[in-house]
Amino acid sequence: MTASFEDQLAFLSELQDIDLDLHTLNKTLAALPEKIAAAESAYSEVKQKFDALKAELAEVEHNKRTDESELAASVEHLREREAKLYAIKTNKEYQAAIKEVSEGKRMNREREDRILAAMERIEALSKEITQLESECAEKEGALTAGREAVQAEEEAILARIKTESARRPELLRRIEKDVLRKYDTVRSRHAQAMAGVTQGICQGCSTRVPPQLYNEMLRRESFKVCPSCQRLLYVVAASAEAEEGEEKK
Ligand SMILES: [Zn+2]
Repeated sequence: MTASFEDQLAFLSELQDIDLDLHTLNKTLAALPEKIAAAESAYSEVKQKFDALKAELAEVEHNKRTDESELAASVEHLREREAKLYAIKTNKEYQAAIKEVSEGKRMNREREDRILAAMERIEALSKEITQLESECAEKEGALTAGREAVQAEEEAILARIKTESARRPELLRRIEKDVLRKYDTVRSRHAQAMAGVTQGICQGCSTRVPPQLYNEMLRRESFKVCPSCQRLLYVVAASAEAEEGEEKK
């Protein structure tokens, strides 16, 4: 029975080592997206600004084209209107025509002002867009590089997880079912499901193990559970502690 317990302890320790590694690897894996979060937000911030400027540029250019075509049409119309002023028979009609022409010219001056302002805005926007374009490309490049690095890291971690996991089924077969059940129960709360006992103290929770339980542990026949933290206990520095324990009996 003693030999069997030693074997069980060895298998369980090996399983614990593997599971701790897997736990760490999975945590690292889960934290990977965070590594590129900064690069992602830096890129999307510049990209949003860039897209907004391009949208504004398109709108300004559209409005400018509208003003230009309206201006051209109006200039043509007013020219014809002025050319026919002489043919007007009544004073009332003449005054109305003069008013229409001067109102049309006033609107055209406004159109010209808007066109000039649009030209200035287009120049400023084009400059900003050119600057942002290179910043955008730079941030996108950094993000792509970050993604590639994270992907490579992810692949390396997944490969390690696969390697580490390979021996688990064999260990699971060899460890007694009730021991495994206890181990899994504790592991749902603590990644480190086993705890060494040194000088009567559980190293998992730093609590003194009751003397009776400790004496039972020293017989090394079966797994004991820490009454305080429920971890599976094993005696550290077996020979020295065993002697001490035997003396107390
Ligand atoms: Zn404990």
